Amino acid sequence: MRFRRLTVTAVSAVAALTLAACGGGGESTPAGGADAGAAPAFPEGSTMATLAGQGSITIGTKFDQPGFGLQGLDGKPAGFDVEIGKIIASKLGIAEDSIEWVETPSATREEVIEQDRVDMVVATYTINDTRKERVTFAGPYYEAGQALMVRSDDTTVTGPDSLRAAGTRVCSVSGSTPSQEILKYIDQSQLTLFDVYSKCADALRTNQVDAVTTDNVILLGFIADSEGGFKLAGDTFTQEPYGIGITKGDVAFCEFINQSLQEAQSDAPTPRPGSRPPARSPR
Ligand code: GLU
Repeated sequence: MRFRRLTVTAVSAVAALTLAACGGGGESTPAGGADAGAAPAFPEGSTMATLAGQGSITIGTKFDQPGFGLQGLDGKPAGFDVEIGKIIASKLGIAEDSIEWVETPSATREEVIEQDRVDMVVATYTINDTRKERVTFAGPYYEAGQALMVRSDDTTVTGPDSLRAAGTRVCSVSGSTPSQEILKYIDQSQLTLFDVYSKCADALRTNQVDAVTTDNVILLGFIADSEGGFKLAGDTFTQEPYGIGITKGDVAFCEFINQSLQEAQSDAPTPRPGSRPPARSPR
C-alpha cells in the first residue's frame, strides 16, 4: 500500500510541472509504452535499446534520505526518487528486481554519470547550468526549495538572515546547491560539510551544529523521523527543480524519460466524481 501511494504521489507531482525540452533538436522518441515483461521496440543503438536488450538498469539515488531514497533492511532504497526510477525502468520493460541501485551522495552525481557507473541519477538532483555542463537533465519532475532545520526548542533561527549575527553553526553537504547558497548568509567558518545529510541530522541532534540546510522536502523527512526533535525554521528561500541526470547529450534518452513521466501521469488513477473515499486516509 505504501509503495502504491508513493507511485501515485510521484506521478501527481510530475503532473504539476512542465517538463523542459531536452535540447539538441533530436526527434522525439516513442516511449515504447511497455510495462515490465513486454518487449518494447526502440531505435537501434539508442540507450533505450541497449537497456531494454540487457533487461537491467543501474540507477544512482540517495540511501539516507527518508521519503526520497532510504535504504531498507533488505538493502534496497525506498522513496519518491526510487519510485520515479521504477516508473522509467518499467517503461523500458525492466522489472523492479532487475534494477541495481547505487548510492550517489550529492558530490558524486556528475562523476558517476560521466564515468558510466550508472545509467541515470534520480537523487534530489537540482537542474542548474553548472551541472548542465557535465550532464543532461530530463524533467523537472518535482520542485523543492532550500530551507533550514533546527532543534525544536530553538527560537533564535527565523530564516537565513538571522544566521550570521547569531553565529549559528550550519551543516550541509558537499557538492550540493544549498551548501553554496548558504554562503550568501553566513561566513565559511560557520559551515560544516559532510558527504550525506543524515550526518548533519546526527550533528544537530548532538549539538555539534545548530541548523541543517538543504531542500525542504529532505528536511521534512528527517523531521518526521525525529520524534519531535527537529522543526523547520522560516520559509524556503530558493527554487530547486529536480531532474534526472543522464549522459550529457543523450537527447533521445532524455526525451524518452520525459515522455515516460508524462505517460505515467496519464496512466495514474484519477478520482472519479462520486467514487468512494479510500479505505485508509493518506498519511
Ligand atoms: N537539490 C539540491 C542539490 O541537488 C540539494 C539536495 C541534494 O544535495 O541532494 O544539490
